Amino acid sequence: MTLQIPFDNTYARLPSNFYSKLTAEVVSAPSMIAYNFPLAKELGITGENDQDIIEIFSGNKVALGSDPLAQLYAGHQFGQYNPQLGDGRALLLGETIKADGVRYDIQLKGSGPTPYSRSGDGRAWLGPVLREYLVSEAMHALGIPTTRALAVILSGEPVMRENLLPGAILTRVASSHIRIGTFQVFSARRDWTSLKILLEYAINRHFPSADGPLGFLQEVIKAQAALIPKWMGVGFIHGVMNTDNCQIAGETIDYGPCAFMDRFHPMRVYSSIDKMGRYAYGSQPDIIVWNLAQLATALVPLMPDKDKAIEAFTNAINDMPRIVKKNWLKVFAKKIGISSIQLGDEDLITKLLNLMADGHADFTNTFSTLGSSSTRDQFMEPKKFDIWEKEWQIRISTEKDPIIHMKQANPVLIPRNHRIEEMISAALKEDYVPFKRLQRALSSPFAQNAAFSDLRRPPLETEEIKATFCGT
Ligand code: AMP
Ligand code: MG
Repeated sequence: MTLQIPFDNTYARLPSNFYSKLTAEVVSAPSMIAYNFPLAKELGITGENDQDIIEIFSGNKVALGSDPLAQLYAGHQFGQYNPQLGDGRALLLGETIKADGVRYDIQLKGSGPTPYSRSGDGRAWLGPVLREYLVSEAMHALGIPTTRALAVILSGEPVMRENLLPGAILTRVASSHIRIGTFQVFSARRDWTSLKILLEYAINRHFPSADGPLGFLQEVIKAQAALIPKWMGVGFIHGVMNTDNCQIAGETIDYGPCAFMDRFHPMRVYSSIDKMGRYAYGSQPDIIVWNLAQLATALVPLMPDKDKAIEAFTNAINDMPRIVKKNWLKVFAKKIGISSIQLGDEDLITKLLNLMADGHADFTNTFSTLGSSSTRDQFMEPKKFDIWEKEWQIRISTEKDPIIHMKQANPVLIPRNHRIEEMISAALKEDYVPFKRLQRALSSPFAQNAAFSDLRRPPLETEEIKATFCGT
Protein backbone atom coordinates (compact mmCIF):
# COMPACT_ATOMS: atom_id res chain seq x y z
CA MET A 1 0.00 0.00 0.00
CA THR A 2 1.35 3.43 -0.85
CA LEU A 3 2.62 5.56 1.99
CA GLN A 4 0.33 8.39 3.01
CA ILE A 5 1.28 11.16 5.41
CA PRO A 6 -1.65 13.28 6.64
CA PHE A 7 0.17 16.60 6.32
CA ASP A 8 -1.46 19.65 7.85
CA ASN A 9 1.08 22.45 7.48
CA THR A 10 1.03 25.73 9.38
CA TYR A 11 4.64 26.97 9.35
CA ALA A 12 4.56 27.04 5.54
CA ARG A 13 1.72 29.57 5.76
CA LEU A 14 3.68 32.01 7.91
CA PRO A 15 5.22 35.00 6.08
CA SER A 16 7.82 34.09 3.47
CA ASN A 17 10.70 35.74 5.36
CA PHE A 18 10.43 32.93 7.98
CA TYR A 19 11.92 30.32 5.62
CA SER A 20 13.06 29.41 2.13
CA LYS A 21 10.93 26.99 0.19
CA LEU A 22 12.89 24.41 -1.75
CA THR A 23 13.02 20.70 -2.42
CA ALA A 24 15.74 18.30 -1.33
CA GLU A 25 18.61 17.51 -3.64
CA VAL A 26 18.01 14.20 -5.41
CA VAL A 27 20.34 11.38 -4.38
CA SER A 28 21.38 8.61 -6.74
CA ALA A 29 20.96 5.31 -4.89
CA PRO A 30 18.99 5.62 -1.66
CA SER A 31 18.38 2.60 0.58
CA MET A 32 16.63 2.14 3.91
CA ILE A 33 18.59 1.43 7.07
CA ALA A 34 15.95 2.10 9.73
CA TYR A 35 12.29 3.02 9.90
CA ASN A 36 10.42 3.61 13.14
CA PHE A 37 7.05 1.94 12.47
CA PRO A 38 5.51 2.67 15.91
CA LEU A 39 6.35 6.37 15.56
CA ALA A 40 5.06 6.45 11.97
CA LYS A 41 1.79 5.03 13.24
CA GLU A 42 1.55 7.64 16.00
CA LEU A 43 2.01 10.33 13.35
CA GLY A 44 -0.90 8.93 11.37
CA ILE A 45 1.32 7.70 8.52
CA THR A 46 -0.34 4.78 6.73
CA GLY A 47 1.06 2.24 4.29
CA GLU A 48 4.29 0.30 4.54
CA ASN A 49 5.68 0.51 1.04
CA ASP A 50 9.49 0.37 1.33
CA GLN A 51 10.02 2.11 -1.99
CA ASP A 52 7.81 5.05 -0.88
CA ILE A 53 9.64 5.25 2.45
CA ILE A 54 12.97 5.37 0.63
CA GLU A 55 11.86 7.96 -1.93
CA ILE A 56 10.09 10.28 0.51
CA PHE A 57 12.60 10.14 3.36
CA SER A 58 15.60 10.47 1.08
CA GLY A 59 14.01 13.65 -0.25
CA ASN A 60 13.83 12.24 -3.79
CA LYS A 61 10.04 12.49 -3.93
CA VAL A 62 7.85 15.23 -2.51
CA ALA A 63 4.99 13.45 -0.73
CA LEU A 64 1.45 14.56 -1.36
CA GLY A 65 0.65 17.46 0.98
CA SER A 66 4.29 18.21 1.79
CA ASP A 67 5.45 21.82 1.39
CA PRO A 68 9.18 21.56 2.04
CA LEU A 69 11.10 24.49 3.48
CA ALA A 70 14.28 25.40 5.33
CA GLN A 71 13.68 27.50 8.45
CA LEU A 72 15.47 30.72 9.24
CA TYR A 73 17.01 31.27 12.68
CA ALA A 74 20.03 32.85 14.34
CA GLY A 75 21.70 32.13 17.65
CA HIS A 76 24.50 32.50 20.13
CA GLN A 77 27.19 29.91 19.41
CA PHE A 78 29.53 29.52 22.40
CA GLY A 79 28.39 32.95 23.57
CA GLN A 80 28.94 34.73 20.24
CA TYR A 81 25.91 35.98 18.36
CA ASN A 82 25.66 34.70 14.80
CA PRO A 83 23.02 36.77 12.98
CA GLN A 84 22.12 34.08 10.49
CA LEU A 85 22.15 30.33 10.89
CA GLY A 86 19.02 28.54 9.69
CA ASP A 87 18.50 25.00 8.41
CA GLY A 88 21.73 24.55 6.49
CA ARG A 89 21.19 20.86 5.94
CA ALA A 90 17.60 20.30 7.01
CA LEU A 91 14.24 20.54 5.36
CA LEU A 92 10.85 20.64 7.05
CA LEU A 93 8.56 18.36 5.03
CA GLY A 94 5.47 19.43 6.93
CA GLU A 95 3.42 18.72 10.04
CA THR A 96 0.99 16.04 11.16
CA ILE A 97 -1.23 15.87 14.22
CA LYS A 98 -0.99 12.89 16.56
CA ALA A 99 -4.05 11.27 18.11
CA ASP A 100 -3.51 13.32 21.30
CA GLY A 101 -3.98 16.49 19.25
CA VAL A 102 -0.32 17.55 19.37
CA ARG A 103 1.18 18.83 16.12
CA TYR A 104 4.57 17.43 15.03
CA ASP A 105 7.15 18.52 12.48
CA ILE A 106 8.62 15.94 10.12
CA GLN A 107 12.05 17.11 9.02
CA LEU A 108 14.84 15.70 6.87
CA LYS A 109 18.40 16.25 8.06
CA GLY A 110 21.26 15.88 5.58
CA SER A 111 19.07 16.48 2.54
CA GLY A 112 21.33 18.88 0.64
CA PRO A 113 22.27 22.56 0.61
CA THR A 114 19.82 25.37 1.36
CA PRO A 115 20.19 29.16 1.27
CA TYR A 116 21.39 28.88 4.91
CA SER A 117 24.20 26.37 4.26
CA ARG A 118 27.00 28.95 4.31
CA SER A 119 30.13 26.92 3.52
CA GLY A 120 28.56 23.57 4.41
CA ASP A 121 27.55 20.89 1.92
CA GLY A 122 24.09 20.34 3.41
CA ARG A 123 24.88 16.69 3.93
CA ALA A 124 25.37 14.32 6.84
CA TRP A 125 27.32 11.09 7.04
CA LEU A 126 26.05 7.82 8.38
CA GLY A 127 27.85 7.93 11.77
CA PRO A 128 26.12 10.96 13.34
CA VAL A 129 22.82 9.97 11.73
CA LEU A 130 22.81 6.54 13.38
CA ARG A 131 24.04 8.15 16.58
CA GLU A 132 21.15 10.62 16.64
CA TYR A 133 18.63 7.87 15.82
CA LEU A 134 19.84 5.72 18.72
CA VAL A 135 20.44 8.42 21.29
CA SER A 136 17.24 10.38 20.67
CA GLU A 137 15.14 7.22 20.81
CA ALA A 138 17.02 6.16 23.97
CA MET A 139 16.25 9.55 25.54
CA HIS A 140 12.59 9.03 24.73
CA ALA A 141 12.64 5.60 26.37
CA LEU A 142 14.30 7.19 29.41
CA GLY A 143 11.29 9.49 29.69
CA ILE A 144 13.18 12.64 28.69
CA PRO A 145 11.48 15.13 26.32
CA THR A 146 13.26 14.92 22.99
CA THR A 147 12.99 15.08 19.25
CA ARG A 148 12.39 11.60 17.83
CA ALA A 149 13.83 9.68 14.89
CA LEU A 150 11.61 8.28 12.16
CA ALA A 151 13.99 7.03 9.48
CA VAL A 152 17.57 6.56 8.36
CA ILE A 153 18.18 6.40 4.62
CA LEU A 154 21.60 5.85 3.05
CA SER A 155 21.96 8.29 0.17
CA GLY A 156 24.20 6.00 -1.87
CA GLU A 157 26.57 8.94 -2.28
CA PRO A 158 29.79 9.66 -0.42
CA VAL A 159 30.29 12.86 1.56
CA MET A 160 33.70 14.39 2.07
CA ARG A 161 34.80 14.81 5.69
CA GLU A 162 38.36 13.94 6.78
CA ASN A 163 37.90 11.27 4.16
CA LEU A 164 35.03 9.99 2.05
CA LEU A 165 32.18 8.58 4.12
CA PRO A 166 28.75 7.21 3.26
CA GLY A 167 26.09 9.91 3.17
CA ALA A 168 22.81 9.46 5.04
CA ILE A 169 19.59 11.30 5.76
CA LEU A 170 17.83 11.29 9.11
CA THR A 171 14.13 12.02 9.46
CA ARG A 172 13.57 13.91 12.69
CA VAL A 173 10.26 14.49 14.43
CA ALA A 174 9.73 17.34 16.90
CA SER A 175 6.77 19.15 18.45
CA SER A 176 8.26 22.09 16.51
CA HIS A 177 11.68 23.34 15.49
CA ILE A 178 11.21 26.79 17.00
CA ARG A 179 14.34 27.72 18.90
CA ILE A 180 15.41 30.64 21.05
CA GLY A 181 17.39 31.60 17.95
CA THR A 182 14.19 31.83 15.89
CA PHE A 183 13.11 34.73 18.15
CA GLN A 184 16.58 36.21 18.14
CA VAL A 185 16.80 36.52 14.36
CA PHE A 186 13.76 38.81 14.08
CA SER A 187 14.52 40.73 17.24
CA ALA A 188 18.10 41.48 16.14
CA ARG A 189 16.76 42.67 12.78
CA ARG A 190 14.28 44.92 14.61
CA ASP A 191 11.55 43.22 12.59
CA TRP A 192 8.87 43.61 15.26
CA THR A 193 6.05 42.53 12.94
CA SER A 194 7.66 39.13 12.32
CA LEU A 195 8.63 38.79 15.98
CA LYS A 196 5.02 39.32 17.00
CA ILE A 197 3.73 36.82 14.44
CA LEU A 198 6.27 34.25 15.64
CA LEU A 199 5.27 34.79 19.27
CA GLU A 200 1.59 34.35 18.48
CA TYR A 201 2.35 31.22 16.47
CA ALA A 202 4.53 29.75 19.23
CA ILE A 203 1.98 30.51 21.94
CA ASN A 204 -0.81 28.91 19.90
CA ARG A 205 1.23 25.85 19.14
CA HIS A 206 2.91 25.22 22.47
CA PHE A 207 1.45 27.21 25.31
CA PRO A 208 -2.09 28.29 24.36
CA SER A 209 -2.85 29.56 27.86
CA ALA A 210 0.25 31.79 28.06
CA ASP A 211 -0.49 35.48 28.39
CA GLY A 212 1.74 37.60 26.14
CA PRO A 213 5.55 37.74 25.98
CA LEU A 214 6.03 37.42 29.76
CA GLY A 215 3.64 34.48 30.08
CA PHE A 216 5.38 32.82 27.16
CA LEU A 217 8.83 33.40 28.65
CA GLN A 218 7.65 31.87 31.93
CA GLU A 219 6.40 28.75 30.12
CA VAL A 220 9.69 28.31 28.25
CA ILE A 221 11.57 28.79 31.54
CA LYS A 222 9.37 26.11 33.13
CA ALA A 223 9.91 23.66 30.25
CA GLN A 224 13.70 24.11 30.13
CA ALA A 225 14.01 24.12 33.92
CA ALA A 226 12.34 20.71 33.87
CA LEU A 227 14.46 19.36 31.01
CA ILE A 228 18.01 20.07 32.16
CA PRO A 229 17.68 18.30 35.56
CA LYS A 230 16.39 15.26 33.66
CA TRP A 231 19.59 15.30 31.58
CA MET A 232 21.64 15.59 34.76
CA GLY A 233 19.82 12.61 36.24
CA VAL A 234 21.05 10.27 33.49
CA GLY A 235 24.54 11.78 33.18
CA PHE A 236 23.78 13.38 29.82
CA ILE A 237 26.00 16.14 28.46
CA HIS A 238 24.42 17.92 25.50
CA GLY A 239 27.72 19.43 24.39
CA VAL A 240 26.47 22.32 22.29
CA MET A 241 23.84 24.28 24.19
CA ASN A 242 23.87 27.19 21.78
CA THR A 243 20.65 29.24 21.71
CA ASP A 244 19.83 27.81 18.26
CA ASN A 245 19.92 24.34 19.80
CA CYS A 246 17.48 25.28 22.54
CA GLN A 247 13.93 24.40 21.52
CA ILE A 248 11.20 26.46 23.13
CA ALA A 249 8.90 23.56 24.08
CA GLY A 250 11.70 22.00 26.12
CA GLU A 251 12.61 19.04 23.94
CA THR A 252 16.22 17.91 23.69
CA ILE A 253 17.37 18.82 20.19
CA ASP A 254 20.58 18.48 18.20
CA TYR A 255 22.51 15.34 19.06
CA GLY A 256 25.84 16.52 17.69
CA PRO A 257 28.67 16.03 20.18
CA CYS A 258 26.49 14.84 23.07
CA ALA A 259 27.60 12.08 25.41
CA PHE A 260 26.52 10.03 28.40
CA MET A 261 29.07 10.07 31.14
CA ASP A 262 30.70 6.86 32.30
CA ARG A 263 32.88 7.78 35.31
CA PHE A 264 31.32 10.70 37.14
CA HIS A 265 32.95 14.08 37.23
CA PRO A 266 30.91 17.27 37.62
CA MET A 267 32.93 19.12 35.00
CA ARG A 268 33.12 16.34 32.40
CA VAL A 269 33.31 17.56 28.78
CA TYR A 270 33.39 15.34 25.68
CA SER A 271 32.83 17.73 22.79
CA SER A 272 36.01 18.31 20.84
CA ILE A 273 34.99 21.89 20.02
CA ASP A 274 34.14 22.86 23.62
CA LYS A 275 37.70 23.90 24.45
CA MET A 276 36.77 26.07 27.46
CA GLY A 277 34.28 23.61 28.93
CA ARG A 278 31.42 26.10 28.51
CA TYR A 279 28.96 23.23 28.18
CA ALA A 280 30.44 20.87 30.81
CA TYR A 281 28.03 18.53 32.63
CA GLY A 282 27.87 20.69 35.76
CA SER A 283 27.57 23.97 33.85
CA GLN A 284 24.34 23.02 32.10
CA PRO A 285 22.04 24.48 34.81
CA ASP A 286 23.82 27.85 34.55
CA ILE A 287 23.97 27.87 30.76
CA ILE A 288 20.26 27.27 30.39
CA VAL A 289 19.58 30.39 32.47
CA TRP A 290 21.97 32.36 30.24
CA ASN A 291 20.10 31.06 27.18
CA LEU A 292 16.72 32.05 28.60
CA ALA A 293 18.12 35.52 29.32
CA GLN A 294 18.77 35.77 25.56
CA LEU A 295 15.15 34.85 24.87
CA ALA A 296 14.01 37.48 27.38
CA THR A 297 16.21 40.08 25.67
CA ALA A 298 14.71 39.16 22.29
CA LEU A 299 11.15 39.52 23.62
CA VAL A 300 11.47 42.80 25.54
CA PRO A 301 10.75 45.01 22.50
CA LEU A 302 7.28 43.48 22.24
CA MET A 303 6.29 44.94 25.61
CA PRO A 304 4.58 48.33 25.64
CA ASP A 305 6.39 49.60 28.74
CA LYS A 306 10.12 48.80 28.37
CA ASP A 307 11.17 49.63 31.93
CA LYS A 308 8.42 47.56 33.49
CA ALA A 309 9.13 44.75 31.02
CA ILE A 310 12.84 44.68 31.84
CA GLU A 311 12.03 44.49 35.54
CA ALA A 312 9.50 41.67 35.10
CA PHE A 313 11.70 39.71 32.69
CA THR A 314 14.74 40.13 34.93
CA ASN A 315 12.75 38.81 37.89
CA ALA A 316 11.65 35.79 35.83
CA ILE A 317 15.24 35.02 34.81
CA ASN A 318 16.58 35.59 38.32
CA ASP A 319 14.03 33.12 39.65
CA MET A 320 14.99 30.41 37.14
CA PRO A 321 17.98 28.97 39.07
CA ARG A 322 15.63 28.28 41.98
CA ILE A 323 13.25 26.29 39.72
CA VAL A 324 16.11 24.37 38.13
CA LYS A 325 17.50 23.55 41.59
CA LYS A 326 14.12 22.40 42.89
CA ASN A 327 13.69 20.06 39.91
CA TRP A 328 17.27 18.83 40.21
CA LEU A 329 16.70 17.97 43.87
CA LYS A 330 13.53 16.08 43.01
CA VAL A 331 15.31 14.06 40.29
CA PHE A 332 18.31 13.15 42.44
CA ALA A 333 16.24 12.49 45.57
CA LYS A 334 14.23 9.94 43.62
CA LYS A 335 17.47 8.37 42.39
CA ILE A 336 18.38 7.59 46.01
CA GLY A 337 14.86 6.49 46.91
CA ILE A 338 13.51 9.68 48.47
CA SER A 339 10.14 11.00 47.39
CA SER A 340 9.36 13.38 50.25
CA ILE A 341 12.28 15.77 50.43
CA GLN A 342 13.54 16.87 53.85
CA LEU A 343 16.17 19.21 55.14
CA GLY A 344 19.54 17.48 54.77
CA ASP A 345 18.62 15.50 51.66
CA GLU A 346 20.48 17.85 49.34
CA ASP A 347 23.54 17.42 51.51
CA LEU A 348 23.20 13.63 51.33
CA ILE A 349 23.03 13.75 47.52
CA THR A 350 25.95 16.15 47.24
CA LYS A 351 28.06 13.94 49.51
CA LEU A 352 27.38 10.94 47.28
CA LEU A 353 28.24 12.87 44.11
CA ASN A 354 31.49 14.08 45.69
CA LEU A 355 32.38 10.53 46.69
CA MET A 356 31.59 9.39 43.16
CA ALA A 357 33.83 12.05 41.63
CA ASP A 358 36.70 11.30 44.05
CA GLY A 359 36.20 7.56 43.71
CA HIS A 360 35.97 7.53 39.88
CA ALA A 361 32.60 5.80 40.16
CA ASP A 362 30.53 4.94 37.12
CA PHE A 363 27.48 7.23 37.15
CA THR A 364 24.89 4.80 35.83
CA ASN A 365 26.06 1.71 37.67
CA THR A 366 26.44 3.45 41.02
CA PHE A 367 22.81 4.52 41.01
CA SER A 368 21.39 1.40 39.41
CA THR A 369 23.04 -0.90 41.97
CA LEU A 370 22.37 1.29 45.01
CA GLY A 371 21.15 -0.86 47.89
CA SER A 372 22.99 -3.97 46.69
CA SER A 373 26.32 -5.30 47.90
CA SER A 374 28.07 -4.41 44.63
CA THR A 375 27.71 -0.62 44.75
CA ARG A 376 30.83 -0.21 46.88
CA ASP A 377 32.89 -1.87 44.11
CA GLN A 378 32.27 1.20 41.98
CA PHE A 379 34.48 3.28 44.26
CA MET A 380 38.24 3.43 44.50
CA GLU A 381 37.94 3.69 48.29
CA PRO A 382 34.85 1.62 49.12
CA LYS A 383 35.15 2.28 52.87
CA LYS A 384 34.28 5.94 52.33
CA PHE A 385 31.16 4.86 50.48
CA ASP A 386 30.25 2.47 53.34
CA ILE A 387 29.99 5.44 55.72
CA TRP A 388 27.68 7.28 53.31
CA GLU A 389 25.62 4.14 52.77
CA LYS A 390 24.91 3.79 56.49
CA GLU A 391 23.70 7.37 56.69
CA TRP A 392 21.55 6.80 53.58
CA GLN A 393 20.03 3.56 54.94
CA ILE A 394 18.87 5.40 58.03
CA ARG A 395 17.38 8.18 55.91
CA ILE A 396 15.39 5.93 53.58
CA SER A 397 14.13 3.70 56.37
CA THR A 398 11.32 6.22 56.79
CA GLU A 399 10.53 6.41 53.03
CA LYS A 400 7.71 4.48 51.41
CA ASP A 401 8.81 2.07 48.65
CA PRO A 402 12.29 3.56 48.12
CA ILE A 403 13.44 0.61 46.01
CA ILE A 404 10.51 0.97 43.60
CA HIS A 405 11.25 4.70 43.18
CA MET A 406 14.91 4.01 42.57
CA LYS A 407 14.16 1.39 39.93
CA GLN A 408 12.00 3.92 38.08
CA ALA A 409 14.64 6.64 38.28
CA ASN A 410 17.86 4.73 37.65
CA PRO A 411 18.32 3.24 34.20
CA VAL A 412 20.38 0.10 33.90
CA LEU A 413 21.31 0.91 30.30
CA ILE A 414 22.43 4.13 28.67
CA PRO A 415 23.94 4.57 25.19
CA ARG A 416 27.56 4.35 26.26
CA ASN A 417 29.94 6.21 23.97
CA HIS A 418 32.19 3.23 23.25
CA ARG A 419 29.18 1.14 22.24
CA ILE A 420 28.00 3.86 19.88
CA GLU A 421 31.44 4.09 18.29
CA GLU A 422 31.57 0.31 17.98
CA MET A 423 28.12 0.39 16.33
CA ILE A 424 29.26 3.07 13.84
CA SER A 425 32.44 1.18 12.96
CA ALA A 426 30.34 -1.92 12.22
CA ALA A 427 27.84 0.09 10.14
CA LEU A 428 30.72 1.40 8.03
CA LYS A 429 31.40 -2.25 7.19
CA GLU A 430 27.70 -2.66 6.38
CA ASP A 431 27.12 -4.64 9.56
CA TYR A 432 23.97 -3.26 11.20
CA VAL A 433 23.63 -5.98 13.85
CA PRO A 434 25.14 -3.80 16.64
CA PHE A 435 22.82 -0.92 15.64
CA LYS A 436 19.72 -3.13 15.82
CA ARG A 437 20.86 -4.71 19.06
CA LEU A 438 21.54 -1.37 20.75
CA GLN A 439 18.21 -0.10 19.51
CA ARG A 440 16.41 -3.08 21.06
CA ALA A 441 18.31 -2.87 24.34
CA LEU A 442 17.86 0.88 24.77
CA SER A 443 14.13 0.71 24.16
CA SER A 444 13.81 -0.70 27.72
CA PRO A 445 16.58 1.07 29.64
CA PHE A 446 15.16 0.29 33.09
CA ALA A 447 14.79 -3.45 32.51
CA GLN A 448 17.24 -5.96 34.01
CA ASN A 449 17.70 -8.09 30.92
CA ALA A 450 20.50 -10.68 31.17
CA ALA A 451 20.79 -10.74 27.37
CA PHE A 452 22.10 -7.16 27.47
CA SER A 453 24.22 -7.32 30.61
CA ASP A 454 27.40 -6.74 28.55
CA LEU A 455 26.05 -3.28 27.64
CA ARG A 456 26.16 -2.29 31.32
CA ARG A 457 29.92 -2.60 31.49
CA PRO A 458 31.80 0.71 31.52
CA PRO A 459 34.55 1.06 28.89
CA LEU A 460 37.97 -0.42 29.51
CA GLU A 461 40.74 2.16 29.37
CA THR A 462 41.47 1.13 25.79
CA GLU A 463 37.82 1.50 24.79
CA GLU A 464 37.22 4.86 26.41
CA ILE A 465 35.99 7.65 24.13
CA LYS A 466 37.61 10.90 25.20
CA ALA A 467 36.13 13.25 22.59
CA THR A 468 32.95 13.50 20.56
CA PHE A 469 32.48 15.47 17.36
CA CYS A 470 29.75 17.58 15.77
CA GLY A 471 27.63 15.81 13.24
CA THR A 472 28.75 17.98 10.37
P1 AMP B 1 24.66 22.57 14.59
O1 AMP B 1 26.05 22.63 15.14
O2 AMP B 1 24.30 21.22 14.05
O3 AMP B 1 23.65 23.12 15.53
O4 AMP B 1 24.64 23.49 13.31
C1 AMP B 1 24.88 24.88 13.35
C2 AMP B 1 24.55 25.48 12.02
O5 AMP B 1 25.36 24.95 10.99
C3 AMP B 1 23.11 25.25 11.55
O6 AMP B 1 22.68 26.38 10.90
C4 AMP B 1 23.25 24.08 10.63
O7 AMP B 1 22.21 24.01 9.69
C5 AMP B 1 24.58 24.38 9.95
N1 AMP B 1 25.21 23.17 9.44
C6 AMP B 1 25.72 22.15 10.13
N2 AMP B 1 26.22 21.20 9.33
C7 AMP B 1 26.06 21.63 8.06
C8 AMP B 1 26.36 21.10 6.76
N3 AMP B 1 26.97 19.93 6.60
N4 AMP B 1 26.00 21.85 5.69
C9 AMP B 1 25.39 23.03 5.82
N5 AMP B 1 25.08 23.57 7.00
C10 AMP B 1 25.41 22.89 8.13
MG1 MG C 1 21.67 22.93 15.53
